[in-house]
Amino acid sequence: MALVTDLDEAREALVAAVEEADRVVAFTGAGVSTECGVPDFRSKDSPWIRLRPIAFDAFVADVLMREEAWRRKFELDDIYAHAAPGRGHYALANLVASGKASAIITQNIDNLHQASGAPDDRIIELHGNGSYAKCLSCGARHELGPIRRDFDASGVAPVCAACGGFVKSATISFGQPMPQEAMARAYQATVACDLFLAIGSSLVVYPAASFPSLAQERGARLVIVNGEATPLDSQADLVLRGDIGDILQPFAS
Ligand code: NAD
Repeated sequence: MALVTDLDEAREALVAAVEEADRVVAFTGAGVSTECGVPDFRSKDSPWIRLRPIAFDAFVADVLMREEAWRRKFELDDIYAHAAPGRGHYALANLVASGKASAIITQNIDNLHQASGAPDDRIIELHGNGSYAKCLSCGARHELGPIRRDFDASGVAPVCAACGGFVKSATISFGQPMPQEAMARAYQATVACDLFLAIGSSLVVYPAASFPSLAQERGARLVIVNGEATPLDSQADLVLRGDIGDILQPFAS
């Protein structure tokens, strides 16, 4: 593993790695969105610790848990209600637009890759999307605006008008089955790439964190861009340690 901590060297190494590659896949975590005001999960003082998402089994089993889940979600949403894409998002949207990157596989639920202009069919959301909700029984989409209005007025967790099922944020909670189509698309993109960029993830949440190793097993170079060490650093071909926006800046405009 080669570790680069100097910013200019990190930028040069990233540009060279992308130039040498034919097919890049980006894999992003919460760190790509922190410069946008969206707190990541594990950093010190993260509000996600106080407002920890309710596990799926508890959500389904208990109405009080469903109410608490919605209360926490809306409190978190208020923290980053006005977040806009950052340099990392624009850099990756540009790599997709130029044809270099075939896909952005993201663990993020903040919709910022879409907001940066990357096309929907190039974004693979492994953990869903928190900008809308879904009925757990019939799958119907529900918008957050009306849910919020009713919840603020009544404190009652929403149910689906069509079928009476529980309505939940369209994210994948701990213990909830992974979305099969997104997992299949992520697999296809990963095995077909020759450069896998893991950006802003602590790489500890599985099965998502298995994709970097899969890419390497299939012959791709693994480059990790993150501000701190990850458990996969020792196996990576290159580790670029520093601020994500700074390191991806050459591709951002
Ligand atoms: P994580 O919080 O576990 O790891 C983020 C990593 O990014 C950390 O190692 C941190 O040091 C690094 N980082 C943060 N800001 C950085 C910056 N500006 N430059 C360089 N490095 C930076 O996040 P994860 O691995 O994505 O796992 C968290 C889980 O929680 C995900 O599954 C996701 O679904 C969810 N989550 C999503 C969001 C979001 O959508 N933005 C935010 C928090 C949590």
